[in-house]
Amino acid sequence: MSAAEKTVPTKAKKVSEIQQWDIETDVAIVGFGGAGSSAAIEAADAGVTVHIFEASSAAGGSTALSGGEVYLGGNGGTAMQRQFGFDDQSADMEKYLLMQHGPQSDEAKVAAYVDGGVAHFDWLVDKNIPFKQSFLDERVVEPMTDDCLIYSGNEKTWPEIEHCKPAPRAHVVQMAGMGAGKVLMQHLQKAVEDRGVNIHYDARALCLIIDEADSIVGIVVRIDGKELNVKAQGGVILCAGGFVMNEEMVKQYAPKLTRCNIPTGNPGDTGSGIQMGMSVGAAAINMHEGFASIPFYPPSTLTFGMIVTDKGQRFINEDAYHGRVGTALLEQNSERIYFIVDVDAYGDYEKLNFMNADVVATGDSIEELEQELKLPKSCLTHTMKLYNEFAEQGEDPMFHKQPAWLRPLEAPFVALDITPGRGAIFPYFTLGGLDTKIAGEVLKVDGTVIDGLYAAGRTSCGIPRRGSGYNSGISIGDATFFGRQAGIAAAARAKESQVSDTAA
Ligand SMILES: Cc1cc2nc3c(=O)[nH]c(=O)nc-3n(C[C@H](O)[C@H](O)[C@H](O)COP(=O)(O)OP(=O)(O)OC[C@H]3O[C@@H](n4cnc5c(N)ncnc54)[C@H](O)[C@@H]3O)c2cc1C
Repeated sequence: MSAAEKTVPTKAKKVSEIQQWDIETDVAIVGFGGAGSSAAIEAADAGVTVHIFEASSAAGGSTALSGGEVYLGGNGGTAMQRQFGFDDQSADMEKYLLMQHGPQSDEAKVAAYVDGGVAHFDWLVDKNIPFKQSFLDERVVEPMTDDCLIYSGNEKTWPEIEHCKPAPRAHVVQMAGMGAGKVLMQHLQKAVEDRGVNIHYDARALCLIIDEADSIVGIVVRIDGKELNVKAQGGVILCAGGFVMNEEMVKQYAPKLTRCNIPTGNPGDTGSGIQMGMSVGAAAINMHEGFASIPFYPPSTLTFGMIVTDKGQRFINEDAYHGRVGTALLEQNSERIYFIVDVDAYGDYEKLNFMNADVVATGDSIEELEQELKLPKSCLTHTMKLYNEFAEQGEDPMFHKQPAWLRPLEAPFVALDITPGRGAIFPYFTLGGLDTKIAGEVLKVDGTVIDGLYAAGRTSCGIPRRGSGYNSGISIGDATFFGRQAGIAAAARAKESQVSDTAA
């Protein structure tokens, strides 16, 4: 092999370097997780040949490790939402998602996602994915039961509650306990297998192959130690997950996440899909953003507590989603951050440990707690006095914590150190990726499409764009929904090229 032909992982090869095609297909998909399986199902249903290449020995990726929560609604509600009386209007869901992700939002994608949400839920049900007919009205990260519908974000917190009618939108796949993503993936995998898709496990995609007109015409994959050239008539769909497991990339692009301590994903989240795209000029956007969480509930009673800086000052409504609180913690200019709660809400601090955070002080009065924490005199005492005065009336004029979670805090008190990097659990994953259109076409920095290249799931930058606006369920919702769009688009391109080949 000449030097020019040597494959450098993620660096694109020119078609002129390819001496033979080892596999020919209409659509080639990289990654067999939520996005890849959904793309494969749609492409196969469109009647084209599909090959899917998965680096590990089984399907699943992060989707199989996940909680199996899928964030869907709008159009008057999914069948599940309607059953429990939630007539979730598209305008509310759309406004909510746009508030969540702010100026980073892709408005066209959000509109398409909301518009197609009800049909997407039906599509999942059609793939025999089980959802129990139930609504769990509790503050949970994931249900420990096999229940379905939950509130999984900031729907009922300020400021969203003042602008968008809340509705529970996370549809959790039926399975008792946490981790229902594996049930979701089992059914998606079966749907892929049933359609005769060519599945290659232990098959790592190395790089894209590009022709003289800058169209993507295939990929190089490594199977059994051999490099194979795959020609993809309709295109290549990159569904290789995000980059949370690539320390160098996290340091380079999303350094604030390095203060978190639990990379949440699968070993394949190395950013190889994003890098393959970048090697052919794709724009990688929003790369600094990530989901960062301090999972302080359950027990939901901790929500009655208050979170303060080393100046004894609050900075957030503590009834917000754990990912918003986690993100806010990363943004504080404070040596320490403490979770202050009363024993009534905490329980026995000699025995119980939450978030893996150290109990760093206890006090029979707020003054005693303040002294033990070595905070500036009267700051915490003042914060607590003010908080309690308003809480007595069910109000929080500073941060608008909702009345359901307001009551005066009473001694004895417990203080937990939840400073990022000091031991408390901080799961995180990345939200940046390749810039794509609704149908998954990958864009260059100048906004033009890279012909023949598609991306979906965490390899792309989808609906979730800000840690402060993340909701559980939005990643799998986004990965499966836009994976499908990419599968449809690549299949259509394959068919077009078949027609033009015949005409020629
Ligand atoms: C513990 C946990 C809980 C979560 N809970 C939820 C939840 O309840 N709801 C929610 O919405 N989100 C949740 N998330 C996030 C969500 O699971 C992911 O963001 C989403 O599943 C990503 O889907 P994907 O298809 O993009 O990637 P994945 O499902 O990770 O699939 C990518 C696949 O690509 C493969 N791959 C990577 N590189 C290559 C290569 N070069 N060649 C071939 N194959 C390659 C990987 O091995 C992997 O199988 C959770 C994540 C975790 C880890």
